Order: sequence, then C-alpha cells, then structure tokens
Amino acid sequence: MKAADFAYEKPDSLDAALALLADPDRDASPIAGGQSLVPMMNFRMAMPELLVDLNGLDELRGISADAGGGLRIGAMTRYSALEASDLVTERAPIIAMALPHIAHAAIRNRGTIGGSVSLADPAAEMPALMLVLDAEIEVQSAKAQRRIKADEFFTGLYETALDEGELVTAIHVPAAPSGRRFAFYELARRHGDYAMAGVAIAGTGDALEDPRIAFFSVSDRALRARGAEAALAAGDVEGAIAALDEIDFAGDLNADAKTKRHLAGVVLKRALGRL
Ligand SMILES: Cc1cc2nc3c(=O)[nH]c(=O)nc-3n(C[C@H](O)[C@H](O)[C@H](O)COP(=O)(O)OP(=O)(O)OC[C@H]3O[C@@H](n4cnc5c(N)ncnc54)[C@H](O)[C@@H]3O)c2cc1C
Repeated sequence: MKAADFAYEKPDSLDAALALLADPDRDASPIAGGQSLVPMMNFRMAMPELLVDLNGLDELRGISADAGGGLRIGAMTRYSALEASDLVTERAPIIAMALPHIAHAAIRNRGTIGGSVSLADPAAEMPALMLVLDAEIEVQSAKAQRRIKADEFFTGLYETALDEGELVTAIHVPAAPSGRRFAFYELARRHGDYAMAGVAIAGTGDALEDPRIAFFSVSDRALRARGAEAALAAGDVEGAIAALDEIDFAGDLNADAKTKRHLAGVVLKRALGRL
C-alpha cells in the first residue's frame, strides 16, 4: 500500500520544528529515521497531515561525555553511530551489548534512539535499556524543556509521557557506580527479528547490590520487575524467577501470555548466567 497524502517540511532549527509541531490546526508528526513511521504510514496505521523531518536539526545530534561520568545522546543519534562509539561501550556497555540484536544493519543505519524511545514499542530493546540505566529523557516543546525519568516515561502500549507538540531531544545516562555489571539476553526466532522475550539487568559488585531488571516483549510496555529485583538483592535467583508472576504478561503474534511468562524466566536465568 501507499501512504495517504501528506505535506512535508524539513526545518533547519529546533525552534522552527517545535513551532510547526505546536500548530493546533495541523496534525503534524515528527519523522526521524522513518524505519517505523514509514511502514506505519504505508499500512495507513498512521496518517499525519504534515511530516516534520528532524534530519536537519544539528541540536539533536551527537554523543557527548558529561562531567559526572555519564553520557548525553542526542535524539537523532542513529543505532549505527551508537555501535561505532567507544564512549557508549565504555560508559553504557549494555547499549553496546544490545545493539547487534536490534533489527539489521540497514535499519540501524537509519533508526534513531529518539525514534525508538518515542515510539515505545513493547518489543523494542531501547526502552528496557533506558530503565536499567536509570536514564532521563530530555524533552522540549515550543514553551518549555523538561527531563523525565525513564521509570515514568513508558506509560502503556506505544504510549509515553510525551505531551502534544513535545519532542525527545536527548537521552541522559548517569554515570554507573564503580563495579556496576550488566547483562542482556533476548530470544528471537531469527537474529535481527524482534525478540519473543528479552531482559536487561544491572547490579553492583559480586552481591549484585541495587539490581535493576527490565523486560521487553513480554507485556504492553518495557517494564521493571521489582519483585524479582528484591529477590535478587537477597541473592535468591529462584525467588526472582518466581516473582515474575507480578508481571501483567501479554501475548503477541509470537506467543501467548502463558508462553511469555515461561520465556521471561528463561531469559532472566540466561542473562544472570552472563553477569
Ligand atoms: C524490518 C524491521 C525490523 C526491526 N526490528 C527492530 C528490533 O528488533 N528492535 C527494535 O527496537 N526496533 C526494530 N525496528 C524498528 C526500528 O528500530 C526503528 O527505527 C525505531 O523503532 C524507530 O526509530 P526511527 O528513528 O526510525 O523513528 P521513526 O520511524 O521516524 O519514528 C517513530 C515514531 O517516533 C516519533 N518520533 C521520532 N523521533 C522523535 C522525537 N525525537 N521526538 C518525538 N517523537 C519522535 C515519530 O513521530 C513516530 O511516531 C525494526 C524495523 C524494521 C523495519
């Protein structure tokens, strides 16, 4: 199928883009890498009147180190740029672990971190990574800028805390405490396909203090497994797997909710084996 008719603008400043998105008379949608939005438009699941192309905005580009040992990643940073970044490997190694599992090279050359976070696909890796890294999502509208904790950002199926007219401008990843360890594991039918179930984990030191466990592709959104985190903090791996019953599992085209429950336990155990 072909997309419905739409108008197209490619602003050259963030202010100009935000002004277009703030116009109440136009149903405008930002486009980043287009790797999700274009197929959605072709299937007519999305029919924006106006596409606001973010590819001309220098303000949204670049990966930089912050003074506190963390990272600022511009929203328009493509997966391929994250893969090539030594700073990312050094300061947010779990992003580097997950990247090879995200789609295929051609899609990673176009897809952006901001697009993935904004879309909030329950099967996407990036939202779960944001939860485990305790990242903050920087967002801006024509009126104001704010930062939203990842824990509060993903609110439902393809739903986020973004308000009308707001753009994701950057991701802030705080410095990891010394001794922080990370693991990532996903099960997919073929490498590069969306996961049937996946998990990202962080914990500090041999005792895995302050553990964070985030699942994707098991429910309507990426989510923390807080009961499992508490069990893991107490050194109880079997208890962590049992505590996954707290999750509101949801089936998809790949598997029903009961199978997702089983797969969540499998990926958690395998990820723990990689820590
Ligand atoms: C064959 C195939 C396989 C894929 N496999 C995977 C996979 O395994 N894992 C995975 O995570 N993804 C996968 N994807 C999706 C891909 O990674 C997308 O690129 C990504 O999810 C969206 O990024 P994008 O930059 O292309 O966003 P776009 O498609 O341009 O936009 C997506 C949505 O976000 C909005 N948006 C974009 N940028 C911003 C912003 N800065 N602020 C506010 N809203 C914004 C758009 O309006 C749109 O609603 C796959 C895609 C394809 C085609």
